[in-house]
Amino acid sequence: MYLFGRKTDGNGTMKPLLGGKGANLAEMCRIGLPVPPGFTITTEVCTYYYASKRTYPAALRGQMEAGVASIEQQTGKKFGDLKNPLLVSVRSGARDSMPGMMDTILNLGLNDQTVEALARKTDNPRFAWDCYRRFVQMYGDVVLGVQKRPDEDHEPFETVIEQLKHDRYHQAVEDTKLTVDDLRELVVRFKALVKERAGKQFPDSPWDQLMGAVGAVFGSWMNDRAIVYRRKYNIPSEWGTAVNVQAMVYGNTGDQSGSGVAFTRNPANGEKEFYGEFLINAQGEDVVAGVRTPEPVSELKKQMPKAFAELERIRQTLEKHFKDVQDFEFTIEDGVVYMLQTRNGKRTAMAALKFSIDMFREKLIDWKTAVMRNPADQLEQLLAPVFDTAEVAKAKAIATGLPAGPGAASGQIYLNADRAVTAAEKGQKVLLVRIETSPEDLRGMIAAEGILTARGGVSSHAALVARQMGKVCVCGAAGIEVDYQARTVKVDGKTFKEGDWMSIDGTAGKVYAGQVKTAPSEIVAGLLQNDEAAKKTEKFRNFQQLMKWCSDASRMSVRTNADTPEQTENAVAFGAVGIGLTRTEHMCFEGDRIDAMREMILAETVEERKAALAKLLPYQREDFAGIFRALKGYPATIRFLDPPLHEFLPHTKQQQEELAKKIGVPAARIHQRVEQLHEFNPMLGFRGCRLGIGYPEISEMQARAVFEAAAQVQKEGIKVRPEVMIPLVAFKKELDLQIEVVHQAARAVQKETGVKLTYMVGTMIEIPRGALTADEIAQSAEFFSFGTNDLTQTGLGMSRDDSGSFLPHYQELEIVKKNPFATIDATGVGQLVDIAVRKGRSSRPNIKLGICGEHGGDPSSIQFFEKVGLDYVSCSPYRVPVARLAAAQAALQTKAGD
Ligand code: PEP
Ligand code: MG
Repeated sequence: MYLFGRKTDGNGTMKPLLGGKGANLAEMCRIGLPVPPGFTITTEVCTYYYASKRTYPAALRGQMEAGVASIEQQTGKKFGDLKNPLLVSVRSGARDSMPGMMDTILNLGLNDQTVEALARKTDNPRFAWDCYRRFVQMYGDVVLGVQKRPDEDHEPFETVIEQLKHDRYHQAVEDTKLTVDDLRELVVRFKALVKERAGKQFPDSPWDQLMGAVGAVFGSWMNDRAIVYRRKYNIPSEWGTAVNVQAMVYGNTGDQSGSGVAFTRNPANGEKEFYGEFLINAQGEDVVAGVRTPEPVSELKKQMPKAFAELERIRQTLEKHFKDVQDFEFTIEDGVVYMLQTRNGKRTAMAALKFSIDMFREKLIDWKTAVMRNPADQLEQLLAPVFDTAEVAKAKAIATGLPAGPGAASGQIYLNADRAVTAAEKGQKVLLVRIETSPEDLRGMIAAEGILTARGGVSSHAALVARQMGKVCVCGAAGIEVDYQARTVKVDGKTFKEGDWMSIDGTAGKVYAGQVKTAPSEIVAGLLQNDEAAKKTEKFRNFQQLMKWCSDASRMSVRTNADTPEQTENAVAFGAVGIGLTRTEHMCFEGDRIDAMREMILAETVEERKAALAKLLPYQREDFAGIFRALKGYPATIRFLDPPLHEFLPHTKQQQEELAKKIGVPAARIHQRVEQLHEFNPMLGFRGCRLGIGYPEISEMQARAVFEAAAQVQKEGIKVRPEVMIPLVAFKKELDLQIEVVHQAARAVQKETGVKLTYMVGTMIEIPRGALTADEIAQSAEFFSFGTNDLTQTGLGMSRDDSGSFLPHYQELEIVKKNPFATIDATGVGQLVDIAVRKGRSSRPNIKLGICGEHGGDPSSIQFFEKVGLDYVSCSPYRVPVARLAAAQAALQTKAGD
C-alpha cells in the first residue's frame, strides 16, 4: 500500500507496481498539483488475489486501515462518521491505461445515516442524495453485478430513473432537475432493484462497501471487455491492476462545480489547443459515460474564469513535466480545481505525428524521442484514404457531430456490436451506429470501419478507444435518432435500416447518406502521384521529416517485396532501397503468359519444355528490365520459381476443356497431368528449388531472363545489381546444383552481350534444416533471405493456409500470444533465425542477411530482426513507411540497451 497526498511514497516511474493511475497520482503530488489524498493498493496484491483463489494477503486490511486513517487526518473527515463523513472513490489502474475497460466506484461510504450527515454538513441535501443515488447505482452495477441482460437495451438503473421521471413528471427531465425527494425515492427503488436482481441486501457498513469494491476492481481485471482489450493490445494478463482509494471531491455541489476530461493538445488532429470537455454540476462518470453531451473546455473561460486559468496553468505544468501530451481528469468543487488522473493521451497517427514534430520544435523533446513517439503500428492510418474532395462537395451532410477519429469511412450501418461483427465476418464494410458508445461495444468497434454516435463527447471512453484503434469516429451527432428496437436510424427526415449505407468524415465531424467516394491521403498523393498541392500540406511535410529521421536512426535498411515495375516505383517513393523479394511466379499469371506456363508444365519432353520456356523468357526479361529501371541502381533479389506446379493448371473439367482447345493439347492429357501433379501436402512437395533441380531448364531460362535484362538496362546507363535467390533450400548440394546453372547462364549472357555484370547468388532460409546447416550453406550462398512464412509453417508444423481454423482459439487460450504468421514466434522460430545468422556468418563473415516473409512489415518482428542483427527487412510497398519507422525505433531502443 502506497500513500499519496501530503506524504507520497511512490512516483511516476513505478507503473508496474502502482499502475499508471497510481504512479501518476503520486507524481502529480510530487510536483505540487492539487490531488485529493489517497493510497494505492499495488498490482502485487492483484497477482496474489488470483494466485490465492481470490483472497487477500493477511496484512492488507491493516494497511488499508492505516491508509484510510491517513486520508482522514488530511481531510479532517472520518469514514462512516455521523458528523463529517469521509467518502472515497475506488478506481482501478493497470500498468498501461485501458480506457473504459475497468471499473470505478464513487461516493463510497454512504448509507442511510451518513447521507443525512453529509446533507447537514454541506447544508446541501440535494447534493448528498445525488451522491447517494449515484453510489447505489454504481456499486449495484459494478460490485453486485446488476447489469443489462442480453435481452435488454438499457441499463436497469437507467430504466428505473426513466420510470421515476415518467411517474412524477410525465416527461423527460434532466437529471439535474430531480429534487431531493425524487432522489430519496430513487435510492429506495435502486435498493429494491438490487435486492431483486442480486438477491441480497445493499451493504450499509462503509468497510464492507470498501472491501467489496476492492474485490470488484480486482475482479474486473478478468471481465470480458478487459480480456478483449488486452488481447487486442497484447497486454499480459499477469500484469494485474492496482486499486486507488482516494478522498472524494465533488463536482456535483452546484453550478460552481463540475467535472471534466481534457487533453493538453488536440488528440484527434494534433493542434496545439486546450481540448476537452466538462459538465457543470456533475461527477466524472457523467462525462466519460457519454450520457449527457458535455461542453467544450473553452466554455469554462466564460462560466468559471478562475478555474479555467488554473486549468491552463496545470496544462502547461503537465506538458513541461511529462514532456508529452497528457489526458487528464479534473473536478471543480465550489470553484477549486482538483486533479484526479493524468496519463499520456491516446492519439491518432495524425496527432502523434504533429505532436512529435511540434514538441521537437518547441525543444520539449529531442529528435530521437520524436521518432519514438510515433506508434509504428498506427502509421498506416496516415496513408488511409480521405473523402474525395469533389465527391464530398456534391454530397449533402445529413448530420454533424464531433470529429473524434479522423479519416473517411463508408459502411453499412449496424446498431449493435454483435450484428456488426457478424456482418464484418461476412465481408461487409460496417459502420457501427450507437446512441452512445460504451465499452461493451469494443468487439463491434474492432470490426467496424467507423463509429457514429448520437450522444457523448470526444473524450467518452469508447471514443478514446476508437482513436487508438485508428477507427474513423464521429460522436455526439445529435441529429440522428437511433431506435434499437426497430433497428433504424432517423436523420434529416430519412429512415435508414440496418444494412443501408452511410459515410462519416471523422476529421470534419460530418455524416453523409450512402457511399461517398474516397481519395488517397495527401502522403500517398504527394509521394506516388507527385501532387504538388498535397506536398505543401503540413501532414506531408511532417511525414517526410519523420522519415528522414528514421533513415538517420536506422541500422537496418528497408527493401520491398515487389513483382512489377509499378510496385517497385511506389516502394522506392516510400523510401525502399531495393527489392528483397520478387516472386517470379506472380509474373506468370497474366494474359498469354499463363498459357506458355501451362504448356511448359504439360510438356512431355525436355525439348517441348524448352520450347514453352522460350516463349516465357521474353516476358520475364521485360518484367525484370522494368523492375531494374524502376530501382535506379538499387539491388533486386529475384527468386526463382517456387510454388507447386498444380497451382498453374485448371482444375475443373470445363476449364480443362477450354485450355485444351486453346493450346491444342488433348483434354485428357491435361486431366492426366493434373492427376499426376496432385499432392497430399503440396506445400511440402514438389516446389521451391526442387522444381529447378527436377527441371534445370526452368532455372536456366529464369537466369537468362535476369541477365539479359540486366545487360540491356546496364547498356542504358543504369546500374543493375541482381541477386538471384534459390528458394526452399535444405541441403547445400541443392544450392550448388542451382548455382552452377546460374553461373553458366551469366557467363553465356556476358559473352553474348559483352556487358560485364555484377551479381550475387544466394538462398532463402525457410526450412529448419537449412537454418541448422547454415554454415555449410553459407559456403556457397552469398546472401540469405529468411522466408519466415515457410520457416514458421515448417518450424511449427502448422499450415500457413489452414491454421486459421484453430489459431484464433489458440490465441484466446494464450497458447500463442500473437498470430505467429503475422508476428514472428521469437522464442521458437526466432531461434532458427538466430542460429542461421550465427552459423552463416561463421563461414562467411560478410554474408548479407535479410528477411522477406510477411514479418518484414511487422513492427514487433522488426524489433526482433534488429536484435539478431539482420542487414535489412523487406515488405510490401505500402508497409515500407511502417517498416522504416519500426526499424528506426528498434535501432534506437537496441542502442539504449532495451
Ligand atoms: C516465405 O516463405 O517467407 C517467403 C517469403 O516465400 P513465400 O511466401 O513466397 O513462400
Ligand atoms: Mg517461402
